[in-house]
Amino acid sequence: MHTIEHWINGTATAAGSTRTAPVYDPATGRQRAAVLLAEASDVDTAVAAASKAFESWGNSSLSRRAKVMFAFRELLVKHEDELARIISGEHGKVVDDARGEIVRGREVVEYACGIADALKGSFSDQVSRDVDVHNFRQPLGVVAGITPFNFPIMVPSWMHPMAIATGNTFILKPSERDPSVSALYAELYAEAGLPEGVFNVVNGDKVAVDAILDHPDIAAVSFVGSTPIAKYVHERGTAAGKRVQALGGAKNHAVVLPDADLEYAAGHLTAAAFGSAGQRCMAISVGVAVGPAGDKLVEILGRKAREVKVGPGTDPASDMGPVVTQAARERVVNAVARGAEQGASVVVDGRGLTVAGHEDGFFVGPSLLDRVTPDMQAYQEEIFGPVLAIVRAGSVDEAIEIINANPYGNGTAIFTASGEAARRFQREVKVGMIGVNVPIPVPMSYYSFGGWKDSLIGDSPIHGPEGIRFYTRAKVVTTRWPHTEAAFNFPTAN
Ligand code: NAD
Repeated sequence: MHTIEHWINGTATAAGSTRTAPVYDPATGRQRAAVLLAEASDVDTAVAAASKAFESWGNSSLSRRAKVMFAFRELLVKHEDELARIISGEHGKVVDDARGEIVRGREVVEYACGIADALKGSFSDQVSRDVDVHNFRQPLGVVAGITPFNFPIMVPSWMHPMAIATGNTFILKPSERDPSVSALYAELYAEAGLPEGVFNVVNGDKVAVDAILDHPDIAAVSFVGSTPIAKYVHERGTAAGKRVQALGGAKNHAVVLPDADLEYAAGHLTAAAFGSAGQRCMAISVGVAVGPAGDKLVEILGRKAREVKVGPGTDPASDMGPVVTQAARERVVNAVARGAEQGASVVVDGRGLTVAGHEDGFFVGPSLLDRVTPDMQAYQEEIFGPVLAIVRAGSVDEAIEIINANPYGNGTAIFTASGEAARRFQREVKVGMIGVNVPIPVPMSYYSFGGWKDSLIGDSPIHGPEGIRFYTRAKVVTTRWPHTEAAFNFPTAN
């Protein structure tokens, strides 16, 4: 059985690790590899390599960093198919969807290609007589990223291109469920000319995470994953004196007003709820049907949910693959059962689905629950699977109240033909990323990504301008040439 190693100081290595975890092919249910799980001493080894590399990378020129990013970007294009197939084989998502995440991750690399512009400071001439002020930003040192299973390329790419282009060295702790693409990423960075020790991968579980959080030589930690772990990482990392950005879970609502094109809205809701088997942090898991939109919307959604083709991610005919593990499958099945027990009406039931030839795969079909209310578990829990819950609301104001009462605030969308309603919605809703007739409003790389409330612990969204800020520290320099007589009064502009 293939063993997935770490990547430290420019080479694949087992370091001192002996523990492993199984990595499955979700479409067959069979184990395809074992991944090494790092001990704290392995994290020490990676930090030592990254600290050494920082001595020169932190002083490298902007042109050199941009050059590596341009070369890396070209390699990502060249290896897109290979990367997409690796993702599909361990995550389960369809290959085309995997390509989508590669492209979205690559866009952050493209933003990082413009680091010379993005890192420019500012200059104020003559703030006082003969005095000028300028500012600039410097890298932090060794920084780390801890990432979830659901976007094994895109989410780490929100972090490392930004961290590396700003002059830091980076340690990635990817999800232990689909770690293989990170090894190929490390090889591609090396081929692009990135020096040894600048990008490192340490595979592992809580042991590795805790070692990262406690390590005195790691200056900052970026985390993306579920809310309980995001809170834990933020608390422990900041207690150890680190800068921490921690993005958590979600329950994303799409509001459909009666004036919307219901066929269009239902098509987009179906894709946003069931694409990637609902395992996207921006997946729509709640539809809020307003007034008379409700019955017709549920009828169209039911038809479209039944048409979703479920099969292995490598089959081009599949719209949706399996979920990532058997435990995830059971969580989805139980959530639908509890919804039914608590009074939701099960319009489409995906629990019994089997895929011929893949009977042991972690498949579960799309489920549509209607007349869900906010007191039901199916509404409150982040199911993270192909389940769409429909809540009925009397007005757009009631829909906004429902969303604002929810503890999460990652993404939301409104489907409407009314500019007035859309404007009111975007101004009043307590959510970080908003779509108007766009179901999954993931910001482009030159904006920043981040939710509100329990979807973002701490105050720092990720990538784009916020990424530049997160991975650097500012200095402001006040300069006087030539020398003038010192005065004893407190300096003021004159
Ligand atoms: P997870 O929280 O289980 O794992 C995330 C990372 O934390 C992994 O690297 C894992 O090894 C580590 N981890 C897990 N348990 C830990 C523990 N007890 N102590 C220390 N580290 C631990 O998340 P997941 O199941 O891999 O991913 C799905 C979750 O991620 C969902 O909640 C989803 O909404 C969220 N997510 C959020 C965003 C966002 O942008 N807000 C993006 C993608 C995924």
